[in-house]
Amino acid sequence: MDAIILSIGDELVLGQTIDTNSAWLSGQLAGVGVSVLAHITVPDDQTAVEQTLRESASRCDFLIVSGGIGPTEDDLTRQALAKVMGVELEENAQWLAELHKFFEARGRAMPAINRIQAMIPKGAEMVFNTAGTAAGIHAVIEGSRVGVQGSGEGSGFRVRGSEKVSYEASSFLNPDLQTLRPSLCHVFITPGVPKEMKAMFTRDILPLVKQAAGGAVILSRTLHTFGLGESAIAEMLGDLMRRDRNPSVGTTVSGGVVSLRLNSRFPSEQQAREELQKTEVACRAALGDLIYGQDEQSLPGVVAGLLLADSTATQFAPAVGTAESCTGGLLAKMLTDIPGSSRYFRQGYVTYSNEAKQDLLNVPAELIAQNGAVSREVAEAMAVGTQTQAGVAYALAITGIAGPDGGTPQKPVGTVWIGFAHPRGCAARVFLFPGDREMIRDRSAKMALTLLRFHLLGKPVPF
Ligand code: AMP
Ligand code: MG
Repeated sequence: MDAIILSIGDELVLGQTIDTNSAWLSGQLAGVGVSVLAHITVPDDQTAVEQTLRESASRCDFLIVSGGIGPTEDDLTRQALAKVMGVELEENAQWLAELHKFFEARGRAMPAINRIQAMIPKGAEMVFNTAGTAAGIHAVIEGSRVGVQGSGEGSGFRVRGSEKVSYEASSFLNPDLQTLRPSLCHVFITPGVPKEMKAMFTRDILPLVKQAAGGAVILSRTLHTFGLGESAIAEMLGDLMRRDRNPSVGTTVSGGVVSLRLNSRFPSEQQAREELQKTEVACRAALGDLIYGQDEQSLPGVVAGLLLADSTATQFAPAVGTAESCTGGLLAKMLTDIPGSSRYFRQGYVTYSNEAKQDLLNVPAELIAQNGAVSREVAEAMAVGTQTQAGVAYALAITGIAGPDGGTPQKPVGTVWIGFAHPRGCAARVFLFPGDREMIRDRSAKMALTLLRFHLLGKPVPF
């Protein structure tokens, strides 16, 4: 079954308030196997709300609306729904009594403008608000909908109230391609205030939706990779990313981390879990150790776990030191973001100037003069210098050109050498990171963590 989430408010379309309701509602609906077709946001404009209610109701089984049922003149959602249903608003005696009680409990008389909050369209039903003064509204409206197998039918709902409206499918559906059939859409109007919306949805709306959705479940898992781009990952996954696959596998990118999002949608939780597991195994087989973690796991957190389990690191504890030029301490920050990092992190040097590289890490001045500060030789010397000066088993060193200035044809902006010294040797690799200063610094630190990670895994870096 399908849902559309509609958020109403001038402050939302103006970007002054972030729409957190839709994200939360999507998570709740996924949990009961309902697919969310769209998030729509419109201002406090009655015509816009009416039009969106009409169009959306013809596309989904559940239309979850939040916002615009306050007591003030800019709150017009109830009026818009009544218009779409072709009915008048009528006073709900039960909620009016609740409103009087609410204000009495606070030692005040109910302001006249709050009376509107007990008005709901004729034929709709009131939904209790345990956290505020605006009652919610539930209405079932009928529209024409393109024939989609299995949706809207056999849900066990009955039409409440005598008034119904019919209208043409919205213009963005192509009626030539598919047949139109009557369909029912459950419209739920909730307050915009996140706390009130959540309480109302959890208490009264979710159970109804769950029952209608017939117990289908969507289970999700996210697998994280770092080092290769999205298209390279997609190529390695091949058929696993086919659009019609269930469980589905999609990718998203954030901060250079390419994440695989697995969604498993099945009638029973057990089946959803088993199929999710099989797909995860297939993804891991395709990508191997490129996957560093899942769900809430972070790259520094995973590296921390490996360090705590590593015999060399335990012997030398704390075993890690860093020397950073262009990242200015970002790598040390990432390593120490993890609680308990004192068990593996000893010390970090921010050696931004050539003098600092010489003074603190014993990098020979001639080495810098001959090769430049951004070079294999200097990266390795920084790593070895850290190892000896700090007395650590593992030393990571970063020297590069983060820009926007300082690039040359031989060493363009984004050129970063990463040196890594460990008890059995030292090596350095060069990378050319795209993007602005912030991106280059971020990717450099994450790549240094990645090199350490593969060393701790005892595996070659697969890119
Ligand atoms: P309303 O019910 O439209 O009067 O909304 C009350 C308040 O709830 C607004 O002033 C916003 O601060 C907040 N709000 C409304 N809609 C949302 C939303 N979609 N996400 C987060 N906050 C919201
Ligand atoms: Mg509002």
